[in-house]
Amino acid sequence: MKVLKFGGTSVGSAERMQALVSLINDGTPKIVVLSAMSGTTNALVEIANSLYFKENDKAKILIDTLELKYKDVIQQLYKSKDALNKGAELITSHFDYLRSFTIDLFTINEERAILAQGELLSTALFHYYLEELNIESVLLSALNFMRIDENEEPDMKYIKENTKAELNKYPTVKLFITQGYICRNAFGEIDNLKRGGSDYTATIIGAAVKADEIEIWTDIDGMHNNDPRIVENTHPISELSFDEAAELAYFGAKILHPTCILPAQVNNIPVHLLNTMQPNAKGTLISSKTTADSIKAVAAKDGITAINIKSGRMLLAYGFLRAVFEIFERFKTPIDMITTSEVAVSLTIDNTKNIDAIVKELKQFCTVEIDIDLTIVCIVGSFSAEKQGYAMRIFEALKDIPIRMISYGGSENNVSVLIDSKLKKDALIALNKGLF
Ligand code: ADP
Ligand code: ASP
Ligand code: MG
Repeated sequence: MKVLKFGGTSVGSAERMQALVSLINDGTPKIVVLSAMSGTTNALVEIANSLYFKENDKAKILIDTLELKYKDVIQQLYKSKDALNKGAELITSHFDYLRSFTIDLFTINEERAILAQGELLSTALFHYYLEELNIESVLLSALNFMRIDENEEPDMKYIKENTKAELNKYPTVKLFITQGYICRNAFGEIDNLKRGGSDYTATIIGAAVKADEIEIWTDIDGMHNNDPRIVENTHPISELSFDEAAELAYFGAKILHPTCILPAQVNNIPVHLLNTMQPNAKGTLISSKTTADSIKAVAAKDGITAINIKSGRMLLAYGFLRAVFEIFERFKTPIDMITTSEVAVSLTIDNTKNIDAIVKELKQFCTVEIDIDLTIVCIVGSFSAEKQGYAMRIFEALKDIPIRMISYGGSENNVSVLIDSKLKKDALIALNKGLF
């Protein structure tokens, strides 16, 4: 069994949906995970925001505009009357549902149900298209088997059992279609795996069914060595280890959801990044194979806050770091980077939801300074400790960029530096020149 995920641009128009068929219709068993059509989730976020701020007239206009787009899509997607009718009915039911919130009370709980409409629409429309072509497939609702637990982590046991139960209902079927991104939470409500989460759906399903391979199809020919939205002349990397890919995804390479590599890595399932616009391009193969010592790629993660913690006496006496970490643990706030000196500890977080409470507790035994609008620039590759010269090359490239923090030696795959977000572009360009 293979799991194939197609992102927003890969299902972004009737034409793109039609082009997908040749990529999935070879008769071998597959689960196909689809994102919402590109632009839809952003539009749904805007609709939910308008409803939240009680701008119902604005919400109505946004809903109508999005509905028109879908009405146009089905005209181009289907030929038969039957498919056109089914498509039109589907659109009406989803958009009437959205419009119901302009009349009924809207609370933040409904937001996630609104955000789920994009994937529900794209998968059903695509499934009707396969029906029109007489290609046998089954549309599975991810809401029946994808679930997160109370810590918002995938509930793997539940997912495994329920995915298998769903598949077992159709023993002769080879092709399954399902929604990326959406799931239920521990309370049974509709929820999601955070923006970009369809990649995560694919690797979670891959792990659940012990797939032979997971393919992530997108609009670029694999993981590039630097952010192609910011830097010119980037190039695709043909092979990455799980560790390298996980670091790049976590530290901002938008092509992959930040935590989507883990389920594949734990189960040793190769992940192949491929381009729907150039299906024959080699892409990037992510596997357990470790590759030669080298600097592979650079990524950047914005929205970072640094917390500088100082204590007057015996700062790093044993027990101090435990006391600090315990506070972050209690407030479920992950720490990304950390450096220590004899009198101070600096660390970074990106989730600032509980920062006020954290600072209040820290202040009971130390002084605290906060620095915002920072970016972690992460240089990824295989840097074995015996090899000299990597740090020198990195810092030579960054010689004109003020560096707030450095993390080196935590793993053999990552050197991270913390800089002012305003300098991100300069830093990425400088690294591209200096390293590749
Ligand atoms: P999808 O909708 O298919 O999930 P995304 O927009 O989420 O696609 O991810 C693909 C985009 O990620 C590319 O178009 C590219 O602009 C961006 N990107 C950022 N960093 C990288 C990188 N290092 N390598 C490749 N693409 C990257
Ligand atoms: N549609 C969702 C988003 O735009 C999930 C995804 O595309 O992966 O974030
Ligand atoms: Mg994506």
